[in-house]
Amino acid sequence: MEFGYVCSQCGQDYEIDPGLMVCPACAGEQRPDEPLRGILEVELSGEAGPDFKIPDLLPVAPEFFPPIPVGKTPLWEPRNLRRELGLPNLFIKDDGANPTSSFKDRASFLVSAMAKKAGVEEIVLASTGNAGSSMAGVGAAAGQKVTLFLPAAAPRAKLIQALQYGAEVFRVEGTYDRAYDLSLEYSRRFGGMNRSTAYNPMTLEGKKTVSLEIFKQLGRVPDYIFIPTGDGCILGGTAKGFRDLVKLGLAERMPTLIAVQADGSDALCRALEKGEFSPRPSNTIADSISVDIPRNGYHALKQLREHNGRGVTVTDREIFSAQARLARTTGLFTEPAGAAAMAGLLKLSPELDPGATVVVLATGNGLKDIDTAGQAVELSEKTIKSLEDI
Ligand SMILES: [Zn+2]
Repeated sequence: MEFGYVCSQCGQDYEIDPGLMVCPACAGEQRPDEPLRGILEVELSGEAGPDFKIPDLLPVAPEFFPPIPVGKTPLWEPRNLRRELGLPNLFIKDDGANPTSSFKDRASFLVSAMAKKAGVEEIVLASTGNAGSSMAGVGAAAGQKVTLFLPAAAPRAKLIQALQYGAEVFRVEGTYDRAYDLSLEYSRRFGGMNRSTAYNPMTLEGKKTVSLEIFKQLGRVPDYIFIPTGDGCILGGTAKGFRDLVKLGLAERMPTLIAVQADGSDALCRALEKGEFSPRPSNTIADSISVDIPRNGYHALKQLREHNGRGVTVTDREIFSAQARLARTTGLFTEPAGAAAMAGLLKLSPELDPGATVVVLATGNGLKDIDTAGQAVELSEKTIKSLEDI
């Protein structure tokens, strides 16, 4: 298999270079307060048979992979939920089963491998929480230094997790967007590979592995995938995986990608309707999909448009309710972003063909943000001394 970069905006080809992050021509047009321009995609060419191995479709050789078992997450068959929703071919991809309990490990894994190959020993990033604790864990396994810029409001579990893994953490006053700018300034001034989502092409490329796995687990392309969407990088990566399968002739079609956004952080859904991005401060309990500027916005919008994707928004109340319903019917406790995808399914399920194969991406473990989940359950102050007190 041969690999190169292609600019997702202007189509210019580049050789893969660990120092190249976005298309220099398009980056010159970058304005503040808009999604990233010139996102680079990995372009592969070659042949692969039906029993291909996932690493064969990745641009970094396995000898550089970090020694940590990312991916191969289970595809659940939720019997009660299938019956309740009348969708006998409903599946849940449980990416909370990754080593740091988050989907983000898929991106961290490939960034770590690329840094190892390039001999870069420090990885720098901004994160709303999950990407940071993920990179910290994967970097720890690989013996790489991880420097993390985290908004001060990030859930405590994610901060503590990153510190446990030994990352250097700077808590930033302000939002993710401020942390993002600081991380870029830091890596420009002090070096290191920047892993910020969408900016580093290995993030999109690593995330595509979820699609390759789903395809292998199902033995087919699903009809619908519900994807929790903030900056649009998981959506872009999921699309890329299926596009690679189609390009290699392993699959015949794309699934319908459904971007599920919190109504307080719905930049991509608004752009899908209006044709352009307009910044608006975000506000949702689902911290990992709460972004003012969707960094991968242009790329994600292109995927939705070119492959008949859809956008759907859900309220925080619907997210809480979906989180509890998923937990109570399946035994899967997912974080608010994963619950958002579930809420999207609950909203659209009456419209879906009962025979459709449907996958919901549950992107993180619920234990990562118990303060939010705690708001939706009744925590009794009452204690008992014996059964007579019940
Ligand atoms: Zn370009």
